[in-house]
Amino acid sequence: MGKRKETSTIVVHCSATKPEQLVDFETIKRWHLMERAFIDIGYHWVIERDGSVKQGRPIDDWGAHVKGHNHESVGICLVGGLDSDCHPVDNFTEMQKRMLKFLVGGCLQLWPEAVVKGHYHLNKDKECPSFDIEDWLAQEGFVEEVSE
Ligand SMILES: [Zn+2]
Repeated sequence: MGKRKETSTIVVHCSATKPEQLVDFETIKRWHLMERAFIDIGYHWVIERDGSVKQGRPIDDWGAHVKGHNHESVGICLVGGLDSDCHPVDNFTEMQKRMLKFLVGGCLQLWPEAVVKGHYHLNKDKECPSFDIEDWLAQEGFVEEVSE
């Protein structure tokens, strides 16, 4: 715990919950405190279904969201990501995606050397956050298009 010395990675997560579930920042915080016995929510930010951005851990503190990389990353969690059969699906709202762009843009200003990853890049067993980060980055103009 404590302050990170480096921030090489911005990790995007989802809560892996269905849209109809009433899940927000406080719900996730409660899960982390009760089930994982954390002292705080594991993420640095949560983006709720309506696009509200809630601050979790202080941005320079260690998070608890990605095994082996918490010392060098910040974690952003979008609420949603599962369909009604519990399969991973990109069902995030337009406001959530807009606020993700805003947050990632801010992070890249703070830590220009950082790379943006999905949880699945860092843990092959995960499908979190249920969408393709490279595609999203390209779509939002964070990645230079590769010309022929
Ligand atoms: Zn995750």
